[in-house]
Amino acid sequence: MKCKSHIPVILIVSLLFGMILTGCTQPLRSSSSVELILDTIVDIKVYGHGDQETLDSAVDAAFDKARELNLIFSASDSESELYQVNETAAHAPVVISHELFTVLETSIDYAQKTQGAFDPTLGKLIELWGIGTDHPQVPPEDAITPLSGRHNYEHIKLDKAKSTVFYETSDFCVDLGAIAKGYIADQLKKLLEEEYHIQSAILNLGGNTITIGSKPDGSDWNIGIVNPKAPDDVEHPAFYIKETGKTFVTSGNYQRYFEDETGKRYHHIFDSNTGYPSETGLDSVTIITDISMNADALSTAVFVMGLEQGMAYVESLENTEAIFIDSSGRAYATPGIKGQVTNGSLTLEP
Ligand code: AMP
Ligand code: MG
Repeated sequence: MKCKSHIPVILIVSLLFGMILTGCTQPLRSSSSVELILDTIVDIKVYGHGDQETLDSAVDAAFDKARELNLIFSASDSESELYQVNETAAHAPVVISHELFTVLETSIDYAQKTQGAFDPTLGKLIELWGIGTDHPQVPPEDAITPLSGRHNYEHIKLDKAKSTVFYETSDFCVDLGAIAKGYIADQLKKLLEEEYHIQSAILNLGGNTITIGSKPDGSDWNIGIVNPKAPDDVEHPAFYIKETGKTFVTSGNYQRYFEDETGKRYHHIFDSNTGYPSETGLDSVTIITDISMNADALSTAVFVMGLEQGMAYVESLENTEAIFIDSSGRAYATPGIKGQVTNGSLTLEP
């Protein structure tokens, strides 16, 4: 009797041992690629113990998806869905894709919650300034005034049942540059997780970082936060933050700007009330949370709100943390993230 019962136990144990051994002997593999998708550097790196071909296909599929989604959201590409909507939605309701509907709906929500600090209807103002193009300018006051203080997001009308959008006036155009990259990052993560079963990856879309799981060795990712005074010095970030499965989105005055003949800097994040680049004394804001679309909208809004109001706003949100860096190099973090921050080229205020 005793002997009989031992046989299956030994079998099971040796089978399990064999399975574990097979799993362990599969080497850790990775696949990565960097590409310029319109004007954003997209950098994707995935890890896994599966075969190399699957990892390579996962990266290829993510880039295909990034290109496909980019074609929806570009405000300047005449081939994009958003461009077509901007041309026609003030005449009659336009049927739009699920993706554009989702991002517009979220944009209006953030515009309302932030009283226009995040404003998706600044397209005409953004075009007027031309920051990031080859023809930036400080526009004349009388061109800026009619495009500021409008809260035009109240005039975007969405109909969920019909999946349409209608602009109640022709005074504005939509620009989703402050939120679309975050949405795209979320969709790439979803694709890698659901279709390729990736459990460890890091994706960077020009300042929007999103992670899947932990590092392949099971430890936290250690994400570098750029020092706004030395943005190209990737070896010496301002801070490192240890996290797993989160997204890190930074809005900063160093990312896209031009300087006039006196050396004054005009950057790309506008205060919708004044129509000028936001001047609150901040150089950058980084939001750390789970959903990159939310982090993206928030980083822009909080940058415009400034340190005091922005800090209070982030602290009122669940599961959302922030790092603020001001123009003197002083840096502040929300209490919930302080324990995960290591000083780099800057020092966090206590
Ligand atoms: P981000 O880098 O996410 O802060 O987004 C900045 C981009 O969003 C700019 O290049 C503009 O296209 C657009 N933008 C500028 N100011 C605002 C604002 N206050 N609200 C929403 N979008 C903005
Ligand atoms: Mg943003």
